[in-house]
Amino acid sequence: MALKLAYLLVGGCGGCDMAVVDLSEKLVDALEHLEIVFWAPTVADVKYKDLEAMPDQSIDIGLISGMVRNKENEHLVKVMRQKCKIIVAFGICAALGGIPGMANMHKKEELFENAYIKSPSTDNPDGVIPQPVSKEGEFELTLPEFLDYVKPIDAIIDVDYYVGGCPPHHDHVAKVVEAVVTGNLPPKGSWITNGKAVCDVCGRNPAEKGKTREFVKEVKRMHEGIPDEEKCLLGQGYLCLGPITQGDCGGLCPKVNIRCAGCGGPIPPTRDFGLRAISAIGSILADENVTDQLIKKYPVLTKMLYRYGLPGAMINRKIFK
Ligand code: SF4
Ligand code: SF4
Ligand code: SF4
Repeated sequence: MALKLAYLLVGGCGGCDMAVVDLSEKLVDALEHLEIVFWAPTVADVKYKDLEAMPDQSIDIGLISGMVRNKENEHLVKVMRQKCKIIVAFGICAALGGIPGMANMHKKEELFENAYIKSPSTDNPDGVIPQPVSKEGEFELTLPEFLDYVKPIDAIIDVDYYVGGCPPHHDHVAKVVEAVVTGNLPPKGSWITNGKAVCDVCGRNPAEKGKTREFVKEVKRMHEGIPDEEKCLLGQGYLCLGPITQGDCGGLCPKVNIRCAGCGGPIPPTRDFGLRAISAIGSILADENVTDQLIKKYPVLTKMLYRYGLPGAMINRKIFK
């Protein structure tokens, strides 16, 4: 009997949905074993009330992509938990908060002001900011309430499995689907990953060439030069996070001469990506001058260290007085 699968996108961009569609004919093969009962709001014309009406625990697997940004996201994630036997946090937004999680460095009011008043493309002379409830003549209009900060889905519900990537690479998605279909899943609470770091799958790894890693003598940001395509980016001063990132993407970024920024998520059992990152980077800087350079070149270092995982960190937001 086919496994029932539901897919829900909450506060994300739809890229993770695209990664599933990118499976192309593999998705068609998988559909012999899967019955997709819900895929919203991107793919199927189903309504949230359709999900709410399904019997509890009637869906075998629920994939959730995107993070929790508002009350509607929060509600739907809870409904998914009620309806699905297994929940997978699919993609780094769902698992750790993702890029939208960098909003946790700012107050809600500051975000609204930038989005609705200050942004160059906005024409809003009256400074109107969306409100959860507003009156339009005799009608009352409602919008989901914006939460104070971004949360990964396991801040709201119990999560069975995690998948990294922004979005997950389609080859990795195929492995995730296979694991789901065959029931060959790791212990509850695990990341579904090949267990390798990006460095392990990167052709530039000095260890593969019998060399040891060089200390960083000068910190460089990606726009400050064109890296040598043969050499390790880290050795050239570009702060590649490949050593501490899950390599299920096959090392996509170094392949195109760009540093890994960590979208695959931390190598288990680490959860706090930024702490692991600063410890790894700190251990490879040649001296104090290079440390000063790092601080100058990355004035908001938190956004580099936690580009994909701030809401999932131990200290998950900037604390304002
Ligand atoms: S993980 Fe990336 S691709 Fe997926 S929803 Fe978030 S931002 Fe989009
Ligand atoms: S640090 Fe980056 S460039 Fe160097 S081996 Fe690891 S992934 Fe490749
Ligand atoms: S190399 Fe790093 S940032 Fe690039 S896709 Fe892979 S995990 Fe993501």
